[in-house]
Amino acid sequence: MNLRDYPVSYDELEPFFTQFEKVAGISGYAGNLNGEIREGGNPFEGWRSEDFPMPPLPTTYDSSKFRDAASAMGYHPFPAGAGIASTSYVNPYGMQMGPCNFCGFCERYGRYQYSKSSPQTAILGALKRMPNFEYRTNSEVLRVELAEDGKTATGVTYWDEAAQEEVFQPADIVILSSYQLNNVHLMLLSGLGEAYNPLTGEGTLGKNYAYQMNGGISMFVKDEEFNPFVGHGANGMIIDDFSISQNDFGAEGFIGGSYWRSGTFNGQPIRNMPLPKGTPSWGAGWKQGIGEWYGHAMSIGSHGSHMAYANNHLDLDPTYTDRHGRPLMRMAFNWHYNDLKMNQFMKRKMEPLAVSMKPDVMQAGFKDIGAQYDVRPYQTTHNTGGHIMAENAREGAVNRYSQTFKAHNVFAMGAGNFVQNTQYNPTGLVGGLAYHTVHAIRTQYLSNPRPLV
Ligand code: SF4
Repeated sequence: MNLRDYPVSYDELEPFFTQFEKVAGISGYAGNLNGEIREGGNPFEGWRSEDFPMPPLPTTYDSSKFRDAASAMGYHPFPAGAGIASTSYVNPYGMQMGPCNFCGFCERYGRYQYSKSSPQTAILGALKRMPNFEYRTNSEVLRVELAEDGKTATGVTYWDEAAQEEVFQPADIVILSSYQLNNVHLMLLSGLGEAYNPLTGEGTLGKNYAYQMNGGISMFVKDEEFNPFVGHGANGMIIDDFSISQNDFGAEGFIGGSYWRSGTFNGQPIRNMPLPKGTPSWGAGWKQGIGEWYGHAMSIGSHGSHMAYANNHLDLDPTYTDRHGRPLMRMAFNWHYNDLKMNQFMKRKMEPLAVSMKPDVMQAGFKDIGAQYDVRPYQTTHNTGGHIMAENAREGAVNRYSQTFKAHNVFAMGAGNFVQNTQYNPTGLVGGLAYHTVHAIRTQYLSNPRPLV
């Protein structure tokens, strides 16, 4: 394992988490308000200086059934923090949100009533009102251009799809804020650091690529109706009793942890159609299965940590190129024993909880020891690492302010900064680190551009 600590602490980031939650418009209930543990919240979370901007969303039936069963077993269920409005809301930039109606279509789609937090809902409209803001659509940045001495960037070269030509855009500061994998690719292509070599451990770009280790149990209950068309993309009750923060799983033979969650995330009629194993996936048998089980299923998910390993990494492909002639990015990845063992532990702990909910049919889906990574089924979107934060240029690609060690006027935001994936979904930490970085740019960098560490 390539285990690392962050070069920035939770206490330093807390004001920026809070700021991000106000901008994004998060609904939830603080479990630790300035050190006071509050009943009904997550007793294991880090302290918060303020409660969430909006109260938690209502609870769907599956969530409440999970909450009651978890409470009965002595666990500590709490409503999931959600980037979805539970009330009408105006964020610090003056952007408005309206309360969610649980239509269940936001998980993988845009939404129509400004309930789901997104850049479009929370930020872009405010930026567009600023006279010095401009964005260019149908454009793809091909590389960051470095000055001759290689210590700063001069701007970026992008592809203008409409004009079918490359354009150089000069810049005083370049902020890479695309998705984690794209950021790493662009940094490798631009020479913003040295590519990681898994054999020698030298280099940093592409290092510590990590994922998330998930599993879950589906339950089918003949006599109960779960209204699967009622939900939202961040729905659910959660328990953190098996999380990484407050457990030492050394005696179990692994490090890491997992949070568990139950709730209907989407009401999509075909996608949200869980059926017992053995049901045909097409034709008359499938229709019969739907007739029997539609609306009678719920699930519990385990969302687990994934450590960084010396051989899981990203680099440039030696063979394949994209339409611009740039090498594609290549991923070397497989599951490792530690995280599979963690997953099996969660299975053993979750099964009694599921049994206590008295399902007619119950089926677990947890990867077994020895499982190989399969790129085909969707597992999670939470890719992390590749341009990790570190104290120095030998260990990471960016410093505590997301500033690249290579060029001090290039900042790389996002989950690529994560040193490993410590179980939770990345958005909160991505937002907290982004505001921490922007604060440093405004208060320290603009007046005196330089390496901040
Ligand atoms: S469920 Fe999602 S798409 Fe539907 S109203 Fe709520 S936030 Fe919008």
